[in-house]
Formats: sequence, structure tokens, C-alpha cells
Amino acid sequence: MPEFRQNMATREWVIIATERSGRPDQFVRRRAERRILPQLSEGCPFCPGNEDRTPPPSLVLGDGPDWNVRVVPNKYAALRSDNSNDREKVGRFLKAGGYGIAEVIVETPRHDLSIATMPHSQVRLVLEAYRHRITEVAQMPDINFVTLFRNHGERAGTSLEHPHSQLIATPIIPPNLRDQIHQSMMSYDSYGKCVYCEMINEEIRQKERLISDSPQFVAFVPFASRSPFEMRILPKEHRAFFGDVSDQELDDLSRVLQTVLFKIYKGLDDPDYNYIVHSAPVGDDDVKYFHWYLSILPRLTTPAGFEMGSGIYINVMAPEQCAQMLRMVEVGTED
Ligand SMILES: [Zn+2]
Ligand SMILES: [Zn+2]
Repeated sequence: MPEFRQNMATREWVIIATERSGRPDQFVRRRAERRILPQLSEGCPFCPGNEDRTPPPSLVLGDGPDWNVRVVPNKYAALRSDNSNDREKVGRFLKAGGYGIAEVIVETPRHDLSIATMPHSQVRLVLEAYRHRITEVAQMPDINFVTLFRNHGERAGTSLEHPHSQLIATPIIPPNLRDQIHQSMMSYDSYGKCVYCEMINEEIRQKERLISDSPQFVAFVPFASRSPFEMRILPKEHRAFFGDVSDQELDDLSRVLQTVLFKIYKGLDDPDYNYIVHSAPVGDDDVKYFHWYLSILPRLTTPAGFEMGSGIYINVMAPEQCAQMLRMVEVGTED
């Protein structure tokens, strides 16, 4: 029977309507021909040897020409740090200069790897670069919101093959984040506890949607998932701002992140996906009511008119079934 489910943190509703789907393997997109990527691509602006094709880096991990991770300003960004942040009225309408920071995190010199397939130590460096940049960018003038995300594959919005993530920081706090903050604050006021800490405890207690329960992080398919194989990773220790993640947590997070991404890589045949680090707005980094998290959204279905009109997503695959399938995908331990 179809059912409504509510996300306890945001109070958003979804519809779980599993009758509309068949089996989990319907989402495994068998590609007629997989393009094998080269280790190095001459025309790629992010490959070693082409460093002069990007603006000077804001961070390099590794030594000189043998860099491991490079963070560079995004040449094609919609927002620029030299634009003004002035608000201006156009009649009744409001506009502001296109001020913001946009950076690309080049995750590895290798053109052909991804988070799921690169050495574990490299994933750790990518996360270290995230922590470094979010902390620095958050201190820049008039920046109120910093987001880190990864678009994998064309359906997730990237056309560049070379493994990379992005950082975008804006002076504007978007209404959907404000709303999420507001809901978690109301919940804190009512119950005296962080709603995300509560969600973690409940998912661990119910077990059926868990994918990974490590010392410092938990990964699960949320009770009210919007789409098949949506996943979340949350730190067990309450923290609102991603930049405050400890060295030890980064070790654990890099393993958990790689594990869950490897599971969809293997179990769903390398699907396109987005992942997003949701962190508190700048200045709210130590609040008790908000908890940073990483959400992973495989792009297996396309939201249609009802979703766009109502904000209520119809999910054709039960989260419990997705979690069960992912738990069964074995992960090798290369290093
Ligand atoms: Zn490349
Ligand atoms: Zn919490």
C-alpha cells in the first residue's frame, strides 16, 4: 500500500509507492558500451601538465608538480569575488551584485578515477581540502552560506570527466536552508534535543535502513527518502558546521563515504549522482539545533509535474529495500 512518510527534521512529506516499481535491479542502467577513460587526457584542463589552463590555485595538497589535490577558482562561475554585494531596488523588485566564491576541487591527478575507485588515502585528502576551503571561505567578507557538492555524470549536471567537486559560497542564505534551520530550531525548542541526533539514534535503533554504522559516522537510507537509493551520512558527535570536523572524524568519514559510493558504483553500475554537504550558515557554526550532514542522491528517476508543483516526492522504491540491497554489496579492502 502506498503511504505518506514525513521527514522528521524538515517536516516535508514524501509518498512511498512501491507498487509502481518492479525490482531493485530496474535501476541498474546497463550501458551498451562503457567508455574507458584514459589515466591522463591531453585536452583536460584538470590533468597534470595543464595547470596553466586554470587560474592560480587557492590550495594545493602535495608537492609542486606532484600535487594530490588542487583547488582552483571556477573560471566559468556564475558568481565572482570581485563583483559587488550591493542590494538595489528595481521598482518593487530587489536585486544584488553577483558576488560569491566558486571553486573547483580537483580530486586527483588521475583522469580516470572517482571517489568510489581512488585509493582511500586520496579520499581523505579530498575531504581535508573541503575542510580547509570551507573554513577559509566562511571567513571572507559578506559570505553567509558555503556549500560543497559533487556532480557525478551527465544526469547529475556535469560534462567534465575529470573527478572534481565544487564549492560555492554566497552572501545570500537560501529560503530552503532558512526553513530547514527554522524547523530544527522549533524542534529543539519543543523537545530540547537536536532533531538530527534523534534521527541518528532512531535509525540505529530500527536498523532496517542502515548501511554503515562506524565509530563516528552513520550512513542510512532515510525513512522519508525522496528518491530510490537516497543516502545520508551523519556524524554521531553533534556539530553544526562541517569545518569543525576533527582529524579522526575525517579518517572515518573518508572510509564511510567511499564505502557507500562504492556500493552504488558496484550495485547500480556506476549511476550518476549528486552529493551535497549540508552545513550551518556562517555564524551559526556552534548551534545546538542544527547538525551537518552529507546527502547522496543517485539520479535514477526524474521529478515530474507533481513533485515540482507540490514539493511532495513520489518514491517508487521502499527505503528498507534499497538499504537491504546496498548492505549486500560487498566492498573490497584494497588499502
Ligand atoms: Zn583530466
Ligand atoms: Zn545533533
